Amino acid sequence: MESATPVIVAIDGPAGTGKSSTSKAVAAQLGLSYLDTGAQYRAITWWMVSNGIDIGDPSAIAAAAGKPEIVSGTDPQGPTITVDGVDVAAPIRTQEVSSKVSAVSAVPEVRARITELQRSIAASAEQGIVVEGRDIGTTVLPDADLKIFLTASPEARAARRSGELKGSDVHSTREALIKRDAADSSRKTSPLAKADDAVEVDTTELTLAQVIECVVTLVEEKRAGK
Ligand code: C5P
Repeated sequence: MESATPVIVAIDGPAGTGKSSTSKAVAAQLGLSYLDTGAQYRAITWWMVSNGIDIGDPSAIAAAAGKPEIVSGTDPQGPTITVDGVDVAAPIRTQEVSSKVSAVSAVPEVRARITELQRSIAASAEQGIVVEGRDIGTTVLPDADLKIFLTASPEARAARRSGELKGSDVHSTREALIKRDAADSSRKTSPLAKADDAVEVDTTELTLAQVIECVVTLVEEKRAGK
């Protein structure tokens, strides 16, 4: 009955490494739930911006951190995200939110709130879950059954992200990604980091299908070994 045991998979790494596409496909293929934790940080950032909170003032962000209600739908075939009942799937992907999310996600009160939400979602996933982010293996779910850390060269990451954001040029995308990674990696509270027991997969030279296959194989090996 190994296949009925819930399995928790943590997939971390910087932007543009194929985390979301990989995590969704692996979850769909294995019948697991899927949680995009970046979308939650983007959602709380969108709420702060929409409510006139000064993003340059960490104490104002901290004071407001408990206010918005963020709900994530975890079906990998159609993940959803709402804030106070409003579907924010599109507005959380704007350049404005991308440029402000690192400042909001660095505030400890924001991280505490979102981390608690993530743990409760993972605990209630009956078949298991793939959770993607920056600090899942290190902080949110340190007991995950499998931890993957995806990397890729800055050039490959910028090229992929520019392809997603039609019309944006590779150079400015590269600069924006590097800036966001630097902020995410250097913050004090649970920075972007590889857990000691994570398997590192460099996706620079791999197709998406190859990365998915690699992760599915790792999950199946873990399940078989349980
Ligand atoms: O994954 P995505 O690029 O959408 O993440 C947006 C931002 O959310 C990151 O740049 C980071 O600031 C924050 N984040 C985080 N911890 C996570 C996931 C995302 O701080 N687990």
